[in-house]
Amino acid sequence: LSERLSGVFDRLTKQGSLSEEDVKTALREVRVALLEADVSLPVARDFIKTVESRATGQAVTKSVTPGQQVVKIVHDALVETLRGEGDPGALKIDNPPAPILMVGLQGSGKTTTTAKLAKRLKDREGKRVLMASLDTNRPAAMEQLAILGKQIGVDTLPIVKGEDPVQIAKRAKTQAALGGYDVYMLDTAGRLHIDAELIAQAAAVRDVANPRETLLVVDGLTGQDAVNVATEFDDKIGVTGVVLTRMDGDGRGGAALSMRAITGKPIRFVGLGEKMDALETFEPDRIAGRILGMGDIVALVEKAQETIEAAEAEKMMRRMAKGQFNMNDLKGQLEQMQKMGGMQGLMGMMPGMGKMAKQVEDAGFDDKMLTRQIAMIQSMTKKERANPALLQASRKKRIAAGSGMDVSDLNKLLKMHRQMADMMKKMGKMGKGGMLKQAMK
Ligand code: GDP
Ligand code: MG
Repeated sequence: LSERLSGVFDRLTKQGSLSEEDVKTALREVRVALLEADVSLPVARDFIKTVESRATGQAVTKSVTPGQQVVKIVHDALVETLRGEGDPGALKIDNPPAPILMVGLQGSGKTTTTAKLAKRLKDREGKRVLMASLDTNRPAAMEQLAILGKQIGVDTLPIVKGEDPVQIAKRAKTQAALGGYDVYMLDTAGRLHIDAELIAQAAAVRDVANPRETLLVVDGLTGQDAVNVATEFDDKIGVTGVVLTRMDGDGRGGAALSMRAITGKPIRFVGLGEKMDALETFEPDRIAGRILGMGDIVALVEKAQETIEAAEAEKMMRRMAKGQFNMNDLKGQLEQMQKMGGMQGLMGMMPGMGKMAKQVEDAGFDDKMLTRQIAMIQSMTKKERANPALLQASRKKRIAAGSGMDVSDLNKLLKMHRQMADMMKKMGKMGKGGMLKQAMK
């Protein structure tokens, strides 16, 4: 998906302005990409419509390229759709004991999430939590919750054989009140597929417990199916929030968008692993970045650029101050320049570099050369990059051929490197009170 999008936006990035047709073309690809990320068809369609009207109405201007702007618009629309109202981590658990009902298909991560959430409430909010397993189908599931409870230091309702889920829920309620618990969590049984019995059981439990929160646990790796599950549970049981598990896997999270768009239910938490602390509150930004796969560009447009570039520049300056400047450093610098859209930007960031900029230019440097110069460095071996002095005639020929350039071009590059390295050395020798070290403070 991200490759596909990158391709499209690369094409757009290279153009000077963004026409309506360009937006349409790009969004056609975005639509396909969303579908590939398991976003359901009607949701993808709606989403594209929103973005299209927004993008077309908006002038493409200023410091970002048109392609980057489209990415940002797409991203923002995604975030907007994904974001629920209020703080996703704030559960309604006043008036103790507050019941939380956990529902979902078998294997979605209900039991694990129940324990993770209990731990979170205990650790972060100092709540006394009681957990109860209502999974009478599988005795092992009740054991599982008891074991997790011991592990995280949260009480579980003692297991009594022969009870049905409603009886267990009633006992949990009584026990929670008597025991002075703030919250009691009901971990229900699931099935592989939604069926009438599963729903009836969950509804019966809901009716006795009257849950303050009913959290639907959904495996983030399931695609289209997640929407049906969410719709069904919400219609029949009434869901107050969704937990997406297995987001540590490589699913793209398209289900999140569909579920959110179709059910309108807020996504509350995200499961990021099997460990008990692998639960985080839902951050629409992160999921949007994942669905789109273009977090980099979005960050760029959001001016994270400046910090990133500054950090890189600082790292390089540290090396320079030590008199180190090999071909890898040069390559890094050329790539920086490329990202910054030419040399002005980078030089501008570094105090006292104006003079060097001129020397580099005199050495036959122009911005169009960047790509070719980087290609030449890429054709060098690791050793050659670390130690350019190794570059004798035959090696030069090989590198020039490998990068489709002439040996004379390579010589220019080497000369540029030498001049820069010399200057670095001089600056490095300026010592403690030196300009570079001053600049780094
Ligand atoms: P339940 O049948 O819905 O109660 O599902 P479980 O809680 O028993 O979880 C099923 C499996 O999924 C277990 O092996 C869990 O460790 C695993 N699991 C649950 N949540 C996550 C998660 O966020 N990431 C990963 N990688 N595994 C998870
Ligand atoms: Mg379970």
